[in-house]
Amino acid sequence: MKYSKQETDQFVEANVLNFQLNGTGWHQLIRDMLYEFCLAGWNLNNKVGGKEKFGGLRCYSLSEDDPLNNEIKKIITKYEALSVKTCEICGSAGKLRVVNGWDVTLCINHYIEDVDVIYIKGDTVFLNDRFLFKLSEIKKVETPNSFKGIRVCLSGDEKPISLNTGNPNYYLLLRSIPLHLFSEEYRHKIRLIFENLKDCEICGYKALWEEHCLRCNDEPWRDSLLDDYEDKTEYVKQSQMLLRMDQDSYEEVANFCDRSFEKTENYRILFNDDEFEEFEKDW
Ligand SMILES: [Zn+2]
Ligand SMILES: [Zn+2]
Repeated sequence: MKYSKQETDQFVEANVLNFQLNGTGWHQLIRDMLYEFCLAGWNLNNKVGGKEKFGGLRCYSLSEDDPLNNEIKKIITKYEALSVKTCEICGSAGKLRVVNGWDVTLCINHYIEDVDVIYIKGDTVFLNDRFLFKLSEIKKVETPNSFKGIRVCLSGDEKPISLNTGNPNYYLLLRSIPLHLFSEEYRHKIRLIFENLKDCEICGYKALWEEHCLRCNDEPWRDSLLDDYEDKTEYVKQSQMLLRMDQDSYEEVANFCDRSFEKTENYRILFNDDEFEEFEKDW
C-alpha cells in the first residue's frame, strides 16, 4: 500500500463522519470500506461520503481515474450488500425490515422495540413495558369482527383497549381471559378453538384451526392444491422455505417472543441448506 498506517487511519476516521446514518451500527463496515479504498489507491485528499437509503448503505464517491473507479464500484457494491445484513443501530446481524412505512436494517432486538408485544405476568397485562390492565379488572370483552381482534372494557369509564393478532402473544391473552367475559357466541367459539388446535406441519406449532394456522397463517394441505403442486411434500416444503425467508419478519418475531402456541413433537423440516439457498436465489 502506498500510504502509511497513520495516513490511512486519519483518512478513515475523518471520512466515516461524512455518512448520514440512523446510528453508529455501520461505522465499522464503513471503516473497512474506506480502508479498501486506500488499498485500491484512492487519493486521500478526496472526500468520501454517503448515506443510508431504503435501509442500505449508499456511497456515490468516485475519482477522476476510470480504472480505479472500477475497483471502487466493486468495493461499494460489496459493502452495500453487507449493510443490509447489519443493524444500523448496533452493528449486530440484521435484516431489511419495514417500520412505519420505512425500510430499515435492524437486528431483532432493535426491531422488536417497534412492535407492540403483549406480555402477561400473573394477573397483569403489559404492552412492551407499559401497564395495560389487570385480567381481574376486565368488565367485558367485545369482538367487533371476529376472534382476531378484541376490545377490552374495564370497570370504570376508561376507553376500551383494542388488541389484535398483530400483537405478538395475542392468542396467549385470548386464552388467558376468563371465557364468561365474552359474548355467548364467542365464549363457545373460543373454547372450541383452543380445545381443537391441530399440528401445523409448516411452522411446527399446534396452531391449526379449520382452514389455516393461527401462527404462520399458512393453509394445511388439501387435494385441490394439486393444481399448483406436485404433491403434499412439495407444498409443505415450499411453504416451509417461504417461512424461513420470512420477508415480513413475522416468523422471527414469533420465535423471539410469542408464547401463544406449543411446539409440536413430530415437526420435520423438509428442506436442506442447499435447497434453501437455491430457492432463495430463484425467488
Ligand atoms: Zn441492533
Ligand atoms: Zn403454522
